[in-house]
Amino acid sequence: MKIIASNFKTNHTRKSTKEFITTVNKFLIDENISNEILVFPTATSLDNFDISENLIVGAQNAYHVKSGSFTGEIGTEQLDEFGIKTILIGHSERRHILGESQKDIALKFNYYKALGYKIIYCVGEPLEVKEQGITETLGYVLEQFDGIDLDYSNMIIAYEPVWAIGTGVSATNEDIERIHKKLKKKLQKPLLYGGSVKLANISEILDIPNVDGALIGTASWSAEDFKKIIKIASKK
Ligand code: PEP
Repeated sequence: MKIIASNFKTNHTRKSTKEFITTVNKFLIDENISNEILVFPTATSLDNFDISENLIVGAQNAYHVKSGSFTGEIGTEQLDEFGIKTILIGHSERRHILGESQKDIALKFNYYKALGYKIIYCVGEPLEVKEQGITETLGYVLEQFDGIDLDYSNMIIAYEPVWAIGTGVSATNEDIERIHKKLKKKLQKPLLYGGSVKLANISEILDIPNVDGALIGTASWSAEDFKKIIKIASKK
């Protein structure tokens, strides 16, 4: 069954997040949809939501501590308050805009792994690497697994080419097929594609071999569109 994840990034308020999650939860129940659906709201919108087991709310980010003096960060003490046991790690915006190094990411991964969190681990190459070809792209992406335990069982991987994130330009189906095939040979984990997935292309992307689901930003922020995307995924 395909996995669908929504990354809110820096969007939605506490109120609109609650409305979104309530609407999506009702939709899953009404339509009897049991696919795993993940939603990553902003840290300020995390809460104790009364939702179905297959609708999972996770954190977009947290520091590798329980609590302490790390201004601007949250730790597991804050996540525990809301029963959050799922986290996104390695997202390209954290790597490339917020400056997280592979070492930082591996530290975070290992901390949350030790606590048994479900980890959605993101990898992907920037445009200048893609332009060098498939061997370089694969080499770059594989380096993003440095320090990451690929035997960790509670893990989903998202391949998200940096140049496709938030740009409206998705990778071609051929690009996705090629890289997913190669990644799947190395990683026996659910493998999502992310990068400008939307209502218009979700169906064909989910039909690509070795695509186990999608991680969606922009096109997932409207609950109505997200429901339509989930409906399409539920039929695959
Ligand atoms: C993302 O944030 O992981 C993402 C894939 O964003 P978008 O769908 O907007 O490209």
